[in-house]
Amino acid sequence: MSCPICGREHSSSPGRGRRTPAKEGTCPYKGVAYVELRAGHDQIYFGRWRRMDASSIDLRKAYRQLERLLREIAAALETEDIPAARMDLEKAFEALNTAGSGEEGPESLRYMDHALSYAHRVIGDLLHEKGLPPHSPADFAGWYDAGEVPFREDW
Ligand SMILES: [Zn+2]
Repeated sequence: MSCPICGREHSSSPGRGRRTPAKEGTCPYKGVAYVELRAGHDQIYFGRWRRMDASSIDLRKAYRQLERLLREIAAALETEDIPAARMDLEKAFEALNTAGSGEEGPESLRYMDHALSYAHRVIGDLLHEKGLPPHSPADFAGWYDAGEVPFREDW
């Protein structure tokens, strides 16, 4: 069930254990710049694929979400002249390609994580260009089932 505002999946209210789907007017990203990109990033950032008990379905889903996010970032960058961001986006695509479909074990996960980090940098560049502070996923953590994230910090 996707949120009608950001187009992604998150809770309808902050706080854990309330996993009812978001309804209009309850989106934490409402009114912020680059709603889709920020929500898209966080959905992956707080996604199940990063858990130790992630299934191959979680990984495939995360891979598709990453692909979608990078395409959306590419579209947003088309109208901006930020060479550093373009380079980071290229690195993100490279990392995602190297990761394969997200099912090839720890190496694959690591590259998906790299892709997400580069995506975060590009979103930061886009925000900076508008004079806005960088995107902080922690500000939105309560809207996700994110009790154990981040965890794979031994990479
Ligand atoms: Zn939303």
